[in-house]
Amino acid sequence: MSSGATPTVTARKEKISNGHNVHYRLTVPNIHTLQAWPFAQTYRTNCQDLPSSWRFEMTFHGMAQDSSVSFSFFLKRKKSKNSIVNGALFRATVWVAFTTVNGSPIFPPTVFSKDILSPGEEILKSVETIPPLSDMGQFLGQELVVEISIMIRFCHTEG
Ligand SMILES: [Zn+2]
Repeated sequence: MSSGATPTVTARKEKISNGHNVHYRLTVPNIHTLQAWPFAQTYRTNCQDLPSSWRFEMTFHGMAQDSSVSFSFFLKRKKSKNSIVNGALFRATVWVAFTTVNGSPIFPPTVFSKDILSPGEEILKSVETIPPLSDMGQFLGQELVVEISIMIRFCHTEG
């Protein structure tokens, strides 16, 4: 296995007035290395009112002849022993974007959002095929960034 193909991953967590966000940033040597590297993370909100735990997995399926990319992902709310948490409504949003290292978008961002009441439910899953915003040729062989944000809402309110 080539160590040069391993993406660099950073995670930034934040708490806001009505929820929690985590922002993952993957820096990959080029778009083709994504295919060999499914992305999987468990995110715990550590909420003081209704803590919840989420499993996110994303698989990159590759690039078509026309430079469209395909990927699938799911976000699953993990089961909890706490009955209050089990009856709680959350809104979960996943945001995925492909950009250059300088932040210029290569593909349009993908956003999925859903309200979820039941723990254990697999709440978001999709296979996306998205065309690039401009000629992909200029980005081939270049380092690129995949930004993934997971946003959980309604677990607490300010005050
Ligand atoms: Zn919270």
